[in-house]
Amino acid sequence: MADYAISPAQQRAIDQVNTYSAHNYKPLPVVIATADGARVRDIDGREYIDCLAAYSAVNFGHQNAQLLKAAEKQLHTLTLTSRAFYSEPFGPFVQDLAELCGKDMVLPMNSGAEAVETAIKTARKWAYESKGVPDGQAEIIVMAGNFHGRTTTIVSFSDDPEARQSFSPFTPGFRTVPFGDAAALEAAIGENTAAVLLEPIQGEAGVIIPPAGFLTEVRAITSRHNVLMIADEIQSGLARAGETFACDREGVVPDLYVLGKALGGGIMPVSAVVADRDILGLFQPGQHGSTFGGNPLACAIGSEVVEILRTGEMQEASRRKGARLAAAFKPLVAEGHLTAVRQAGLWLGLDVHPSLGTARDICYRLLDKGVLAKDTHTKTIRFAPPLVISDAELEEVIEHSIAAFEGAAADRD
Ligand SMILES: *Cc1c(COP(=O)(O)O)cnc(C)c1O
Repeated sequence: MADYAISPAQQRAIDQVNTYSAHNYKPLPVVIATADGARVRDIDGREYIDCLAAYSAVNFGHQNAQLLKAAEKQLHTLTLTSRAFYSEPFGPFVQDLAELCGKDMVLPMNSGAEAVETAIKTARKWAYESKGVPDGQAEIIVMAGNFHGRTTTIVSFSDDPEARQSFSPFTPGFRTVPFGDAAALEAAIGENTAAVLLEPIQGEAGVIIPPAGFLTEVRAITSRHNVLMIADEIQSGLARAGETFACDREGVVPDLYVLGKALGGGIMPVSAVVADRDILGLFQPGQHGSTFGGNPLACAIGSEVVEILRTGEMQEASRRKGARLAAAFKPLVAEGHLTAVRQAGLWLGLDVHPSLGTARDICYRLLDKGVLAKDTHTKTIRFAPPLVISDAELEEVIEHSIAAFEGAAADRD
């Protein structure tokens, strides 16, 4: 493994975290102090290019001037009322987001997991009150390899043993089918199926892209059986995959969009479920809520995020820069450094050849060269830099990454 030197100052900061914070993450040993665009700086002043972008929560760049301006204005005006009252930025935000999605209504929450929980409750409510499923029988079909968050209900239908171990008893009402298998999905649908919940591209699983036409088939199958299609676009959406939504890659419109991460512009946790009136209109006062959901600061930022997405510039940048990265990395498969390169927009999953070590070993080498990337599932490195990364920075990432793979191969030989 490459030796990444941890300075005394960084070591002290890391020790403090390890002493006082629960160890529910295993971060790379870098303590970030400041950031701008695609660059971050550690507490010793060393610079890195951020190729994770907080799991796509920072799609529009660190310290994005347009988003900061909107946030600062709101910060000094009104930040929290709760939904007990109306607030000035709330109406514009829900209208902006509904229009971006081509839907009627928005239900705002905070974290991604809360939005997924909201979508599950929405689908069950719709099944009982609209479809006529007998009480207590509603079922939701999910995909193998899914990641939808960390709440007790959500880990109930995860197939990652680490996510579930010691957290039982689990919530019933879910059934799992292989991701990308439309026939298995259709076979799993029964009279009591409320919804199919899926990530159009599985992010945490390693940027797993389903076979072409799968989303189109899911849409056709769910429509045919009067089952809701719920697209968890928390990581794949908002320009990451080269379109406003990853579903747009096949021209598919789900019944519910679940959004989060980049919706908060890297400033605030902002999430939402977006759907038509016949679905979200089922909620009556008191049936669901959140103290912070739809707060004025979140709304001001969310509206500005929608504004950024309106021009299509971010989507175009995502496609163009992603194609460049993929073209640079694909030859590494023939060279035996990688076993696969998957790409959708500026979102790549690289599978490291086992002879080079684990993906985490490579991430240490990248760190040493000033590139922050994150491993997922032992063999995969995810590259998802902010979409505003400059062309020069992108070339730097390519140069350092190739050097990291070649270094690992040289040390092996
Ligand atoms: C990150 C993520 C979530 C959970 O979001 P949190 O804000 O961490 O709760 C849910 N679904 C997908 C697809 C995600 O990538």
